[in-house]
Amino acid sequence: MTAPWIAELAACLPNGAAASDPDVLASYSRDQAPLAPAGTPMALVRAKSVDDVVATLRFAHERRIPVVTRAAGTGLAGGANAVDGCIILLVSALDRILRIDEATRTAVVEPGVLNGVLAKAAAARGLYYAPDPASRDISTIGGNIATNAGGSCCLKYGVTGDHVAALEAVLADGTRIRTGALTEKNVAGLDLTRLLVGSEGTLAVIVGATVRLLRARHAPSTLVAFFSSMPNAAAAIAAMDATADLSLIEVMDHVTIEAVEALTHMSLDTNAAAMVLAQSDATDAAEVIARCQELCHAHDAIDVMCTDDAEEGRLLLAARRSALPALERLGTTLLDDIAVPKPAMPEMFERIQRTAERHQLVIGTFGHAGDGNLHPTIVFDASRPESKKAAFAAFDEIVRDALALEGTITGEHGVGSLKRGYLGEMVGEVERELMGRIKAAFDPRGILNPGKGI
Ligand SMILES: Cc1cc2nc3c(=O)[nH]c(=O)nc-3n(C[C@H](O)[C@H](O)[C@H](O)COP(=O)(O)OP(=O)(O)OC[C@H]3O[C@@H](n4cnc5c(N)ncnc54)[C@H](O)[C@@H]3O)c2cc1C
Repeated sequence: MTAPWIAELAACLPNGAAASDPDVLASYSRDQAPLAPAGTPMALVRAKSVDDVVATLRFAHERRIPVVTRAAGTGLAGGANAVDGCIILLVSALDRILRIDEATRTAVVEPGVLNGVLAKAAAARGLYYAPDPASRDISTIGGNIATNAGGSCCLKYGVTGDHVAALEAVLADGTRIRTGALTEKNVAGLDLTRLLVGSEGTLAVIVGATVRLLRARHAPSTLVAFFSSMPNAAAAIAAMDATADLSLIEVMDHVTIEAVEALTHMSLDTNAAAMVLAQSDATDAAEVIARCQELCHAHDAIDVMCTDDAEEGRLLLAARRSALPALERLGTTLLDDIAVPKPAMPEMFERIQRTAERHQLVIGTFGHAGDGNLHPTIVFDASRPESKKAAFAAFDEIVRDALALEGTITGEHGVGSLKRGYLGEMVGEVERELMGRIKAAFDPRGILNPGKGI
């Protein structure tokens, strides 16, 4: 069914930016969380300018039409999934790097710039854009900011929000706003920049960002270690984290090691219970990694390899980055994203193992051990209703176990539509209601990504 207002919307937008073909709409209805709910959109706007964003929001606000902002659609929580009757506002074509400034070490970008493109442009100027989600080559800076994306190097460099200096955004009624400042320090008023970071398209549409760049980092040294038990691996991780200047510590369990080896044939030790990757970019990186090697041996590592060669290090990290595609080859997957305080990680691994046994499911767990952020990935048979039911029961248990261990329902992927049912329990009902009032201040008619995030 075509919306009665589609011709009027098209008339507001020059250059044919609006579309309503059902096949085209369907292809923009979902992100990368296949099991998160998605509705049927009425229109797609491919914004080619900020004016297109303003015109779309004014139009939708007047008529109370929901708007789902979408960038690259790589989200893993259903955040960019359509809601019934919505306009999908695609901002990925706003993809110019407007300025890279060495003096302030900042870059001014449009929201559709891919993370990896910015990282390369910064590197060409001797600078470093730190936020490094595994999706960096396919996800946008705007999407990264809207989800406050994490990645591997958060242990040392923090999350996306730690690198955002200022934003330009459009409110639900089409009003343009600017937040933040170019300065290193800025304590003027409430921090609206930080409020927009991680707001998952529910408060405003981000149309420009000033992000911080760092000096180029030292060439990294890398360690990979295999352990016969997860508790030994966890003890080694804790020892390294406590004493070494590391930029990342990643972990994969036995199920994930086997799946990655089957995909990559990298000669990983498939008998091991855990594989740990650590990297240092300190000026004495080689010595730091050598000390970590000793710590791994002290915690009964079966095998430890180290390299100062950046390309070899990159290849070792590629093993970790292929964890999700490798597990996806085993069946339908339900990917979780929880984080627990670091000392609770061994207990969380044990609980995941018990959940897998209880529901007779394969669960491969990998994640950012340096941050306590784990991605238990439930593999199931989508053609069998009882298998799907067991997968969702396991997902629920894992989220509740994370809460029981004083962790969080989402470390980096966001609430989207997938985790909304847990938000009240996570933040508290009073606090959730406060979040609702903040949303109402930005978006009084509730048109921006309704039913997602907060
Ligand atoms: C293989 C793979 C690996 C991944 N690895 C990581 C990882 O390591 N760490 C991590 O954190 N995530 C990871 N992700 C998830 C995903 O890439 C991130 O959430 C990313 O930040 C989403 O960016 P996007 O451009 O695809 O945004 P989309 O998926 O299009 O949108 C995500 C959310 O942001 C909102 N949004 C997008 N752009 C704007 C804007 N300009 N203004 C307002 N709201 C906006 C949308 O409404 C939606 O709610 C991974 C995903 C895949 C597929």
